[in-house]
Amino acid sequence: MPIPAARSDYPEIRDAVRALVRGFGDAYFREKDEAREYPEEFVESLTKEGWMAALIPAEFGGAGLGLIEASIIMEEINRAGGNSGACHGQMYNMNTLLRHGSAEQKAKFLPQIASGALRLQSMAVTEPTTGTNTTDLKTRAVRKGDSYVIEGQKVWISRIQHSDLMILLARTTPRDEVKRKSDGLSIFLVDLHAALGKGMEIRPIRNMVNHETNEVFFDGLELPASSLIGEEGKGFRYILDGMNAERILIAAECVGDARYFIERAAAYASEREVFGGPICQNQVIQFPIARAYTQMRAADALVSQAIELFDSGEPCGSEANMAKMVASEASWFAGDTCIQTHGGYGFAEEYDIERKFRETRLYQVAPISTNLILSHVATHELGMPKSF
Ligand SMILES: Cc1cc2nc3c(=O)[nH]c(=O)nc-3n(C[C@H](O)[C@H](O)[C@H](O)COP(=O)(O)OP(=O)(O)OC[C@H]3O[C@@H](n4cnc5c(N)ncnc54)[C@H](O)[C@@H]3O)c2cc1C
Repeated sequence: MPIPAARSDYPEIRDAVRALVRGFGDAYFREKDEAREYPEEFVESLTKEGWMAALIPAEFGGAGLGLIEASIIMEEINRAGGNSGACHGQMYNMNTLLRHGSAEQKAKFLPQIASGALRLQSMAVTEPTTGTNTTDLKTRAVRKGDSYVIEGQKVWISRIQHSDLMILLARTTPRDEVKRKSDGLSIFLVDLHAALGKGMEIRPIRNMVNHETNEVFFDGLELPASSLIGEEGKGFRYILDGMNAERILIAAECVGDARYFIERAAAYASEREVFGGPICQNQVIQFPIARAYTQMRAADALVSQAIELFDSGEPCGSEANMAKMVASEASWFAGDTCIQTHGGYGFAEEYDIERKFRETRLYQVAPISTNLILSHVATHELGMPKSF
């Protein structure tokens, strides 16, 4: 299946990542899913081979690559039958530290993240009472001497149990003391081992997919003042930067999922014979697969456009959002088509399609839901009034 020009220039990355994932085999991911177990061996292997340090500059021990290469790594994991959701956090969280961390923070943490000694896989933004309305969040960080004291609650915070560090967004200046509601928010780098049981508790949320995610409770957690990333009060701007990277990488994962479903559907339709011939000889079987392919290619083009802007330091909020929306819808349609093409076998766990179908559904909700993307496009691209 052709890949857009710039992103097709990395066959060696594609081949190596695909070989690593396939080395684990479909049964590995299926069994982890059934047991709701973290794919530790898989993430360890990605780390050992240096893929998780792709975006870390060479001076800190990483590969010094751009978002384009990172997007290819994530896409190929999903295309080969794996799920990047177990590890993608490190890619975009690390980027926040890299872009906004101090020289000391970068020198202290980046080499350890690059070597795999530390994992920075978690980002805590969402809260139970405010949901998508991020700037209304209630978690407070109050400066007391050389510390910030954290009080509040987060929800759906992923990979905490398999991470050493977490980026936390909290309010440092009360909402009624700032001009714009996006002011007065700050980000912190939390040492999870030091925090657990000492002002921070977690409660895992069992969910539709094999995705480690948690409720998090803060009750007087003390963070050293040196955990602040960047300037106090500017955290929302920093987190948005990371969110654009996150949306682009997840869009690439959805393109990978769509390719997985399309390849499986086309192969099965060619080999399955009913009524004396392969089912693919019927247009009604062919056309949805061709439509899924077309939608995947459109999504891929948007992903490429967003990456080009991101990697050249240009604003890319709309492009990152649109790429994520179109890609998540393309992968969902491709998954639905793949199930339909397989008939009853699409429901069998051993075919892995139902697992991938559940996994790709998440991306119409997280990290940002489709309605909020449409609202962004309506207001930022089309000049219509904000509806909330
Ligand atoms: C498995 C999983 C993992 C996650 N991991 C993380 C993580 O690691 N870190 C983190 O911070 N968060 C994480 N999230 C949270 C995720 O980003 C949110 O669930 C998502 O942003 C939606 O927020 P919400 O669930 O509070 O929905 P709500 O904000 O309550 O929205 C519910 C529905 O209403 C719609 N809606 C809300 N307001 C409007 C409006 N004004 N106009 C139109 N429609 C509207 C939304 O589009 C949505 O469909 C995760 C979520 C899941 C499910």
